[in-house]
Amino acid sequence: MKLLWAAVCFLLVLMISLPEAQSALTHDKDLVRVRLLSLPKKIQLTGQGLRFLNLAEPYRSVAIPENKQAEVRLMKKDGKNLWALKFNNQDREHLFTEKYLMIQGDGLRVGSQTLPNRVLLSSSGQQVDVVGVMPLDEYIVGVLASEMPLGWPLETLKAQAVAARSYTLAVMAERQEKAYHLESSVLDQVFRHIVAEDENDPKIQKALQAVRETEGVKLFGPGHKILKAFYHADCGGQTTLAKNVWNGGVNSGTAVDSSCPTSPSAQWTLKVKQSDLAQRLHLPSLAELATQKVIGDARVRAVKVAMNDGTQKAIGANEFRQALGFSELRSTLFDVKKSGEEFVFTGRGFGHGVGLCQWGSRAMGMRGHSYVQILKHYYPLAKLN
Ligand SMILES: [Zn+2]
Repeated sequence: MKLLWAAVCFLLVLMISLPEAQSALTHDKDLVRVRLLSLPKKIQLTGQGLRFLNLAEPYRSVAIPENKQAEVRLMKKDGKNLWALKFNNQDREHLFTEKYLMIQGDGLRVGSQTLPNRVLLSSSGQQVDVVGVMPLDEYIVGVLASEMPLGWPLETLKAQAVAARSYTLAVMAERQEKAYHLESSVLDQVFRHIVAEDENDPKIQKALQAVRETEGVKLFGPGHKILKAFYHADCGGQTTLAKNVWNGGVNSGTAVDSSCPTSPSAQWTLKVKQSDLAQRLHLPSLAELATQKVIGDARVRAVKVAMNDGTQKAIGANEFRQALGFSELRSTLFDVKKSGEEFVFTGRGFGHGVGLCQWGSRAMGMRGHSYVQILKHYYPLAKLN
């Protein structure tokens, strides 16, 4: 009987373990991989029921039975990764010779940072990337909680959830071969991991509701391809097309927002010293600046800079914003004047201006519009399904 029980247990373990044994990156294609941290080569992890897994054959798993701390160290041997795992302060190290190391457990943490129940360690140069692996809608709740105040109207949150879901799926298709699909910062979408205790918070419940009530809903571009649905904080009165910002991308249409000139980023001013600006643009000197616009569009397309020796250079407006800092030069809806030793930028709006405008969608939600109406306003050429 004991033997039979042992055999059943063995089979059960095998059944639970096998799908993971086969779960190389391509097998987990429905799960979102988000880079959460980039750390030095030695990582201290804590959690309950920690398990460490190789992703490919020969399949190997090391489990830590109790709630203990583990240390993972990345080494290189013959150009290959070697992950050395140590726990319970024992001297013995478990070695994993794989490109990636999968870690599973409850209450996973690195320092004070809480992590999803499943993470992937991947080496990038001198650093180790800690990549969260999770189902799409679990990720979208964490994006919603970071990208938009959860006190905003439910329909506005639902429109944001659909835009974020569409953006995520489009980017996952583009980057499926990479160790991670998305950054957890403004470079893609800001994300924070929602721990189970937070789910009782009424605001988090509202985010969960917005995601649940739009489950599976996505935006599509031409050829029924999922739309890389961009969004931004404040359009300043009118949105723009992806090609005007990045010289490419799908045309999902533009929208006029009469409410945005009253939003908090409606007007802004930025003063930058002439010498600071030259330094940030990596120029030897800077004498004058002039904006280049297209008739009918208030946004700057390029900035023409003249140096002290008379040479000139045109810098794309998005590149110019990046050099000054996206949160300092808040949009490309600006004018610039020279005042003594300073350049004074006066502008409107916040963000690149493509796709959904968050402040405008808040105004629409407050006026009683549905998330479908909000999405049709901001992506008039896209299909919703
Ligand atoms: Zn707007």
